[in-house]
Order: sequence, then C-alpha cells, then structure tokens
Amino acid sequence: MGHYNNFRTVVYIPAEVADKFTPEKLASDWEWIEKYIGLDKVYLETHRNGTDVPAEQIRMIKSYLESKGVTVSGGITTTINDFEGAEGGKQRLFGTFCYTDPAMRARLKEISEYTARLFDEIILDDFYFTNCTCERCIREKGDRDWVTFRRELMREVSEELVVKPAKAVNPKVRMIIKYPNWRESYHFTGYVPEVQRDIFDATYTGTETRSPQYTDQHLPEYLSYALVRYMENAWPGRNGGGWFDTYACWSIDRYLEQAYLTAFAQAKELMHFQWSDLIENPMLSAMALQLGKIDKLMDGIGNACGVPVYIPFASSGENHLEMRFGMLGLPIEPTPFFPEKAASVLLTESALADGDIVDKLEKYIREGGNAVITTGFFREAEENLRAAGLTEARLSGRSIPVTRYQVTGDFAGFIEHRKEIFFPEIVHGNNDSWSLLNGGDGDTHSALVLRRAYGKGRLYIAAIPDGDSGLYEMPKAAVDVIKRVLTGGEYVSGRNVSTFTYDSGRMLLYRYVKSDLRPERVTLYTERKGAVLVDDLTGMRYPSNEVRRFEDFRPSSGTAAEVLLQPGKFTKVHWETQE
Ligand SMILES: [Zn+2]
Repeated sequence: MGHYNNFRTVVYIPAEVADKFTPEKLASDWEWIEKYIGLDKVYLETHRNGTDVPAEQIRMIKSYLESKGVTVSGGITTTINDFEGAEGGKQRLFGTFCYTDPAMRARLKEISEYTARLFDEIILDDFYFTNCTCERCIREKGDRDWVTFRRELMREVSEELVVKPAKAVNPKVRMIIKYPNWRESYHFTGYVPEVQRDIFDATYTGTETRSPQYTDQHLPEYLSYALVRYMENAWPGRNGGGWFDTYACWSIDRYLEQAYLTAFAQAKELMHFQWSDLIENPMLSAMALQLGKIDKLMDGIGNACGVPVYIPFASSGENHLEMRFGMLGLPIEPTPFFPEKAASVLLTESALADGDIVDKLEKYIREGGNAVITTGFFREAEENLRAAGLTEARLSGRSIPVTRYQVTGDFAGFIEHRKEIFFPEIVHGNNDSWSLLNGGDGDTHSALVLRRAYGKGRLYIAAIPDGDSGLYEMPKAAVDVIKRVLTGGEYVSGRNVSTFTYDSGRMLLYRYVKSDLRPERVTLYTERKGAVLVDDLTGMRYPSNEVRRFEDFRPSSGTAAEVLLQPGKFTKVHWETQE
C-alpha cells in the first residue's frame, strides 16, 4: 500500500548521491523523507557523468530501502564527462554521448546490462538525446538533415544498445524513457516518442516548470499539467509519472504548483528530483501538507478531459500557445492524433507538421466539427485552406494596434481604453464570413475572431497577439469569445487561473501564486438552464444567475456563478442540474 490513494510518492537518487551513502546517512535521510512526504518508491541510479556506483553499494541501499517497504527501481543518466579518447567532447552540451563513437556505444551497452542485472525496472533520465556534431557524426549524417539522421540513429541506439541488451540479461526488466519538458524540440535532438513507444515499455514526463520568467526552456506553469496529458495520449496507459524539482523555484508555492498540476493530470507517480535536494529542505514540509490535500481532491474525480489541441509528433511552432490558453482558464487536452470525433479542436502552427492537415480539417468541418485555427497556423496554410474552399480570408501581412475590443452580436460587448497590443490583420469577405470579435484603435478596427460555416461545421480564425504576453493583456470578455466556441458554452472567465475538468463533471480551479496576483473573482458559465454551482469541499451552493446572450448568430441562455479564488488555494466545484 502506498501513502496516498491517487499517486505514488517517488524520489530519484542520482549516482553521485548513491555513491556517497553510508548506512547511517541513508537511514537518517530516509527517516526525513518518510516523515514528511512518505516514500513509496525510489529510482536508484547506477551511472551519471563520471560516476558508476559499485554493485555492492547498490545492494546495500536497495536492501535497506526494501526493508522499509520502499520499491526500488534503477536509473541511468546517459552523460559521460571527459570520456577518454572521445572526439568533440567539449563541444557536446551536458556531456551527452556521441552515439557514432564505437567506444561510447560499447560503454552504453555495458551500462544497460549492468543496471539490468540489478533491477527489474529502469528509467533513463532525460539526457538521452544527441546533440553531437563531431566530424564522425557529420560524416555519418551524409546528405540527410540532422532531424532525419538523429531519428534513425536513436531508433537504432534504443533498440540495440539499450533495450535489447538489458532484456538479454534480464528478460523481466521494464524499460522506461523519461522525456524532458521541451517537447517542441524533441525531434531536433533525436527524441522520437512516436518511434520509441514501440521500443520502450513505458514513458515518464518532465513537469519541472520552475520560473516561467527565467526558465531555460521558456515554459508556462500549465505545462506541468498539459505535457502529462500529451504523453498520456501519446502512450495510452503507459505514462509512468511526472517529474519535477526544486531548481529556480524561488518560492515554495512555485515548487508545490508543479506537484499540484502533475497530480491533477493524473500522473501515477510524482517523482521528486532529487534525494539530496529534499533533505532539511523546508519545501518538503509544505509538500507534505499539500500532498494530503491534493490526494483528497482527486478521490473519485473521474478522468481528466478538456478541449482537444492537435500537436503532431515532431512538431514545433507557436510553442506553448495552447498552454497559455491553459493559463487563461481554458482546460486543454493536447494530443498527437487528430481528434476526428471531438466536437471542437484547436490548431496552432504546430499542427502544420502534419502534411495532410488541410484535408483532415476539410473533412472534419464538413462533417460538423468546429475548428479554431490561430493566425500562426493560418499564415502558412492560407493558400491551401482557400483552395480547399474553407475560407476566402487572408492575412494582410500588417500588424494592427488594438486598444479596444467589440464582442459582436452581444450589443453591449464594448471594452475600451486597454493597453495597446498588436495583432496580425485578417482581411475577409463580409457576409461570407463574420467577425465575432473586433479589435481596433481610433476610427478603425478589424476582425480578431472570424467565423465561417462550411458543410455542417465551422472554421474560426483567431488572431493571436504578436507576442504571447499580449494574450494575458487581452480583456477576459475577449478571450471568452474563443472559450465559448471551443467549449460549447461551459467555461470559466478568468486569467492566471487554470481550470481542470474531469468526465465526472467535477472541476478544479486554481489561481497561481505570483508576486503581482491578488484574489480574483472569476465567473463560471454553463448553457445548462436552472443549474446551480456546488462547492464540493464545503457543500456551499453559489448564487447562480440566468444569463442570456446573442452571439454567433444564435440566442443562448444559461447560468453564471461567481467564485472568489485565493492564490494558492484549491476550489472544487460542479454544476448541479435539476432534471
Ligand atoms: Zn559524434
């Protein structure tokens, strides 16, 4: 039995830490971790950089932890500093392997075999990529581009040097590949989940979002949720867990939020990287308190769901844009497979990596789907979309300043005197398509969300500000236009608030802790008439009011309720409808 109902608490022990353990230090560290977060499992590393942990030391640690009821699996970090005789060693960032070097290849195989003799489960930390551009790699690449060369190289390395050798010495061994938090760059460095899903037994997801302003990978906080969901959809049922750390978390809340979002995404294991960072760290006592709370929140909540966003494998473009919508309260469900059965879908520039995307889109909309495409997607697909008969609109190539917004059709949707943001200008044929949201300055304005019917469905083009930070500056009522289209009318109007939705109808609302954020009143909408919003934690029934609206050429009526959200506090609600 684990310490929690909805996830297992897991800690990573890097080789340098494992190498130095005395039995006394190991015991006192275990007591500390067990006392605070409770320890269900560890991944105990055999190799990292220049450290190889002797089998005797591994056995000492393993038998002690197992005597305490902890599951012990293995770990490998595929880095190798100052490898003797290796060319180009200083050039490779992070001391990754050169996978065309015969001596390094032999070394990797040896590490896999050694670790598989000691463990029945092994995880590879996320340095299992290649950035080598040495003479030999350039020669072997030949006429191929780096992406193609590295894809083929890492397929071969994964099969021949990692998985097969490990299974040859231990047929029971379960091989796990952890992917880093930089999904949009996987294919540039030989990370190929679409290929490796047929080679490895399971995957694991990096959810270490750290400081959004300064993280090297340029990540929004919401990635800790969205990337787990993406990997879950990419490897259904085989995503082992989410992995976060203490680095560049300059407040305890920022550290904790990584765990909250990883758990909300229903990762089976919460991996705390790494062992020695946790000892005597006050963050851990806060984590202890919060893990119990989030475990209770997740009890019986159902399965995570949200608005599908199609992000093909090996794609990049408008990176993290869908996660920015997640920061604005839109629950998203990113997937590497086109969600042809879904009622609506969001496509960003990344979807262009699918060469058949316009054909898929045409069929999807014609049969009744609602697709929202961003201007980043539209810019590249414009000609093909026009040729397919999906739109007559085009981008002028200019950016327009916007200081005011108009939600059309609603008759009172005027929002003025806002901070200036620039948007790409969409030019369209009046009455062939119709603008649901306009933006302008002075005496001019232009469409920011454009609607066009096609077959049984609709195509919506959404203008995205020139810089992503502009999204956070848009008035909530303007972003709500996009939310209504994508959610079918059940959404939360807010900013720096994330909504996590589940198929039970339960919703978790979380307002982030940031230096400039205060409590905020958010409005929840549903098109269900006579609905009442109920707080699952207190049983309170929120005052809920009927709302009427006319938008997108249809009158709608539904219910709205206001909820006051405190930064760092959890809210769990659902709509109750009297049938
Ligand atoms: Zn090389």
